[in-house]
Amino acid sequence: MGINNIAIAIDGPAAAGKSTIAKKVANHYNFVYIDTGAMYRAFTWYVLKRGVDPKDETASNSLIPEVTIRLTADYKVFVNGEDVSKAIREPSVSGNVSYIASYPKIRLFLTEQQREMAKVNSVVMDGRDIGTYVLPDAFVKIFQTASVAVRAKRRYLENLEKGIATSLEDIEKELAMRDHIDSTRAMAPLKKADDAIELDTDNLSIDEVVAEIIKIVDKKLGVK
Ligand code: C5P
Repeated sequence: MGINNIAIAIDGPAAAGKSTIAKKVANHYNFVYIDTGAMYRAFTWYVLKRGVDPKDETASNSLIPEVTIRLTADYKVFVNGEDVSKAIREPSVSGNVSYIASYPKIRLFLTEQQREMAKVNSVVMDGRDIGTYVLPDAFVKIFQTASVAVRAKRRYLENLEKGIATSLEDIEKELAMRDHIDSTRAMAPLKKADDAIELDTDNLSIDEVVAEIIKIVDKKLGVK
């Protein structure tokens, strides 16, 4: 972190509503929002586009020099100049991203970029390993959870809105599978940091979660 830069880390399992919340918190403080999951998705999209098997670690790693990912202020995601914002939410990417995210070389490649962004900006960064690994000195760490049933329902409604056709049952299976791979991988697994504040959002609205996080950050900043 730069001298004047502040980082807020929001980690948690798949579809816990992290990105919606993180965007709102970032807007409130005028910080940059960084969706690290979108970076793993973008890499996965490229692996699939190149016809490489995402379960093949060596072949996936070999694509690192070919991949340039850019996140924009209006939440778009580009791979080598191509807008993949919608494509990275497709089931083919969601179903394979956790394999790609388990490969240490790819994690290091993306982690370096995430740390660089947090060095030059105040950020709200969401992901799985932000508080434990990417930014262990983050100013505030939140671990946001919700039951798998609630998360599946939220993601189902979100997909409907985006015009992505998936059944509730398939989403629930996919979330459970991703959580399992993400929390059991060797490098930087999904895990609550010891100093993270856990927020169970099953019975909270988006605005209630946002207000709670702002309260925590303001208190630490000394804002009355
Ligand atoms: O946040 P989202 O669900 O879009 O992330 C997609 C996947 O990217 C996760 O399931 C996980 O495998 C991977 N990921 C990760 N570390 C992060 C962010 C995402 O491993 N910091």
